[in-house]
Amino acid sequence: MKRNTIYLSVFCIALLTILVCAPILAEAGRGGGSDTGGGRNTDVSSILAGLSSIKFILGGIAALSGLILLKTIKINRNTRTLLMCAVFVLFGVLVIMHQPSPLRAVVDPVTALATGGAITFKKATMLAFIGGLSVIGGKLFCGWVCPFGALQEIVNRIPVPSGKKIKLPFKISNSIRISLFAISLIMILTTGYDLYTYHGILNPFELFDWHFELVLAVLVGAVLIASVFVYRPFCYLVCPVGLLTWLLEYVSIFRVRLDKEKCNDCKKCILKSPCPSVKAIVDGDTLRPDCFACGVCIDTCPKDALRFGIWKKAKA
Ligand code: SF4
Ligand code: SF4
Repeated sequence: MKRNTIYLSVFCIALLTILVCAPILAEAGRGGGSDTGGGRNTDVSSILAGLSSIKFILGGIAALSGLILLKTIKINRNTRTLLMCAVFVLFGVLVIMHQPSPLRAVVDPVTALATGGAITFKKATMLAFIGGLSVIGGKLFCGWVCPFGALQEIVNRIPVPSGKKIKLPFKISNSIRISLFAISLIMILTTGYDLYTYHGILNPFELFDWHFELVLAVLVGAVLIASVFVYRPFCYLVCPVGLLTWLLEYVSIFRVRLDKEKCNDCKKCILKSPCPSVKAIVDGDTLRPDCFACGVCIDTCPKDALRFGIWKKAKA
C-alpha cells in the first residue's frame, strides 16, 4: 500500500472517530436520551452500546474502503455492481443500517427543532456519521453504505433497449427534492408530522424491517421500476439525506475532480457514466448534481483526467 494511502486511512479513521464520538460524549455529558421518544434518561449502557455499535464500525470500514478503492484502483461498472450487492446484503440484510434509518436521522431532528422536541442520541449519532462521511468524501455514505442506494444502483444495471436509460435534468429533479423538503417543513410546522414518514408514504427504509405493507410495497415497487431506467431516482428526486449530502459535497475534502490539462474533451466519461454529475464536473459548472462516488467516470477516462482527490492548485 502506498504511504499516502496509509496516511489517508489513518487521517480518515481519526476524523471518523471524532465525528462519531463527539455527539455521543456530548449527549453523555447532558445525561443521554432515549431513541424511542423525546424522553431523557441516564442509561450509560445505551451510550456504551452506541459507541460500540457494530453498524457504525462496519459502515465506517465500508466507506473508508470505498475511499481507498477510489484512490488506488479503477472501478468499472461490473466491479461496482458486485460491491453494491455486498453493501446491500451487509447493511440491508445482515447488519441493518436502520433504527434510526438515515432518513429519520435527517428528518426527525428538523421536526424536533421545529416543535421544540429532543434530538435523540441515536439519531444524533447517525446524523453525525452521515455528515462526517460526507465532509470527508462527498457521498461516501450514500455511495458506499446506504442499502437502498445500493439496491437502486443494482437494479439500474438491468439492460433496456438502447437510448431508454434516462439522465434526469438536475435542475428539475433537485427542484422536486427541495420542494418535497419544503412541503415537509410546512407540514411539521402545521401538523407536527413530516411528509416522508407520514404513514410511511416516502420512507422506503422501512423495507429493511422486512415486513411488507401495501404503501411500502407500492413505494418500493415504483422506485425499483424507475431505477431500471433512471440512475438512483429516489436519491435524486426525493431523499432528504441525498439533499443534505448534496449540499455537503460542496465542502467535502475528497471528490471527483478534473485535471483540465489532461482532458481532451472526448466526452467518453459523460457517455459511459450513469449519472448527470460528470458533465457538470467536466464543464466546470457551479451547480453540480450529486456524485455518488461510484468511480465509473474515473475508470472510463482514457487520459486519467479524472480522480477522486483533494483540491490542488492549478499549475501556473
Ligand atoms: S440519497 Fe437517500 S436513498 Fe440515496 S443513497 Fe443517500 S440515503 Fe440512501
Ligand atoms: S461523477 Fe458520476 S460516474 Fe463519476 S464518480 Fe460521480 S456518480 Fe460516479
